[in-house]
Amino acid sequence: MELIFEKSVKGRRGFRFGNSDVPTHAQVPSKYARKDEAPLPEVSELDVVRHYTHLSQRNFSIDTHFYPLGSCTMKYNPKFTETVARLAGFADLHPLLPQLATGEKLTQGALQVLYELEQWMCEMTGFSAFTLQPLAGAHGELTGIMLMAAYHKAKGNAKKKYVIIPDSAHGTNPASAAVAGYETISIPSNKNGGMDVEALKSVVNDEVAGLMMTVPSTYGVFEPNIDEIAELIHSIDGIMYYDGANLNAVLGRCRPGDLGFDVMHINTHKTFTTPHGGGGPGSGPVGVNAKLEKFLPISRVIKKSDGAYALNYEYPDSIGYIASFYGNFALLVRAYAYMLMLGKEGLQETADHAVLNANYITAKLKGPYKLCFDRLCMHESVFSAGLQAQRGVHAIDIAKFLIDQQIHPPTVYFPISVSEAIMIEPTETESKQTMDHFVQKMIEADELSKTNPLVFKEFPKTMPISRPDEVKAARDVKTSFFLPDAT
Ligand SMILES: *Cc1c(COP(=O)(O)O)cnc(C)c1O
Repeated sequence: MELIFEKSVKGRRGFRFGNSDVPTHAQVPSKYARKDEAPLPEVSELDVVRHYTHLSQRNFSIDTHFYPLGSCTMKYNPKFTETVARLAGFADLHPLLPQLATGEKLTQGALQVLYELEQWMCEMTGFSAFTLQPLAGAHGELTGIMLMAAYHKAKGNAKKKYVIIPDSAHGTNPASAAVAGYETISIPSNKNGGMDVEALKSVVNDEVAGLMMTVPSTYGVFEPNIDEIAELIHSIDGIMYYDGANLNAVLGRCRPGDLGFDVMHINTHKTFTTPHGGGGPGSGPVGVNAKLEKFLPISRVIKKSDGAYALNYEYPDSIGYIASFYGNFALLVRAYAYMLMLGKEGLQETADHAVLNANYITAKLKGPYKLCFDRLCMHESVFSAGLQAQRGVHAIDIAKFLIDQQIHPPTVYFPISVSEAIMIEPTETESKQTMDHFVQKMIEADELSKTNPLVFKEFPKTMPISRPDEVKAARDVKTSFFLPDAT
């Protein structure tokens, strides 16, 4: 690498790092060379720093404000686990270190972290083995359904072609089952938000490969009939899948493996501290019981008789590779550090506070807003803005009102089976003051919907863009570079 001084487009002097091995302009065949100079902006370092700093200040994050999104909630992201993930011994480890394959000295620490994390996850969930490789919750689901398919193939269960999914499941569940090649059957919920067991009985037959349940469901409630459901599915040699993305609701209080489930995934980027958003990063470890263990993806971390750790690829029945290397390692380090930091009691308290906080908000809001299922909720609860909608103020309008109050809107219009849905998860780490402030703003929104419903159409007033066409904005992203003083 050498420093090259050059005259820049507009005649100002600049310099860049150059590499003499890279072909220069003169070596590019003329038919590919551009005729005009590229219209690149020319800006000083200070302008660039200010531009990005201003952009970062516009970012909404849990470091700045309350974020009570339901379902895909960003939970606790302590700075401590960030520090651990950045330790050179972890961060500078290259996945192609030759020792990784043979488990020799340089990677022993990393392999030990993975091995112990798997053991702890087994302990927490009641399963016999885990793979930490899936790169997101949905990827964990796909892995789990592939394990289900491998199980049926190995047993010669040739007729299996359906996966049953209640309407209270997360939206990724039917998508994952379909990607894995299954057709899905939807089961409606009963009036308490549980699965309609009679409807389930009417569709269970030899062609059913398994059932995927989100627990607690996306209505934020626990399924009281799990035993009966598991028995029914196992009676036709089906596999019970537990979507445990929001394990924070039950951590240390109950174990999916003890409830009759055969396979589950966890979202480490929700329950175990990695900040996520905008599509990543994620990590969806999958746990299984003895029925499915031999089908787990390779490689697997093992501890040899001499105490050394290694990656093992010798599993003839494995579904094979589902990720390059061994998953999102830095997320797994954060999860490990978080578990060490909290310990057994601390993890149990996580669940206690998640449930307490959600029930606190539910109790405070269930007058002004219609609560979907009036029963104890788990980590989140679902309201409907049906009453407000009669005044012309819809869930989306309340969400836009909250933006002006510097509160991230809750999840709206999901679950889709609830009209004008508003789904709220405060998470385990919010203070009473923060939750009271949120409750007060939600009550203000309700009051305002009675006195001045039309004003809602103007919200948000404090944002650079007020009401974009959200679908178009997501599909037709404009990332043009502009400076505050640009004309
Ligand atoms: C977030 C979530 C998922 C999907 O996880 P991703 O990492 O976004 O793929 C699946 N199920 C439930 C219940 C979730 O909350």
